[in-house]
Amino acid sequence: MTDRKDELGRNLAKVEERIAAACAAAGRRREEVTLIVVTKTYPAADVRMLSELGVRHVAENRDQDAAPKAAECADLPLTWHFVGQLQTNKVRSVVGYADFVQSVDRSKLVTALSKEAVRAGREVGCLIQVALDAGESARGERGGVAPGGIGELADLVAGAPGLRLEGLMTVAPLTGEFAGRELAAFERMMDLSTDLRRTHPAATMVSAGMSADLEQAVAAGATHVRVGTAVLGVRPGLG
Ligand SMILES: *Cc1c(COP(=O)(O)O)cnc(C)c1O
Repeated sequence: MTDRKDELGRNLAKVEERIAAACAAAGRRREEVTLIVVTKTYPAADVRMLSELGVRHVAENRDQDAAPKAAECADLPLTWHFVGQLQTNKVRSVVGYADFVQSVDRSKLVTALSKEAVRAGREVGCLIQVALDAGESARGERGGVAPGGIGELADLVAGAPGLRLEGLMTVAPLTGEFAGRELAAFERMMDLSTDLRRTHPAATMVSAGMSADLEQAVAAGATHVRVGTAVLGVRPGLG
């Protein structure tokens, strides 16, 4: 085994232990939580090693990096999640490899995703990104729709050909009432998910929690955690 694969394996084992402990503490079964490894800024070679180590879900946030990486890894049994802010001119490319787009936050994006999914003959799983730091009507600084906008966007996705409404995604806010209160933020997400499932019972995914706060997300009830740094290491520069 290479040093890098060894390192990734050790990091994965630690993250796995954390998820298992958080599930046990919350009285949840381990199978209720899916680990998505965020591979942004890291090379295709790392993605390949992760796949060999048993990882099945990976996420990326920039199409420029993700598209060539996904192409290099097309032979691997991986599910690809797109989690970054998405411009409509990148939608055609993203639909080419992404099984899930977790950052759906405006109607224009839904229209573009639907059109390209139909064109490509693909079905794309969509999560509405929720900005818990936005007011009831504004949009978040890092993308996301305010809680008040979820219903309308969800209906739009559910009715769009080529798209499947899967649930909600959030990033713990750095500002506003939930700053520094990750557990409270994720509990609010669970309430929003409960509301959503009244009209869209199949939209069960709640994607929340990253390297620093996966325990709080699992405690609140998240179904998917998105972990980058804790598996791959601290990213050089911004990412
Ligand atoms: C980078 C990123 C993550 C992973 O963050 P880490 O702190 O490295 O675990 C999760 N979700 C989104 C949307 C990201 O952009």
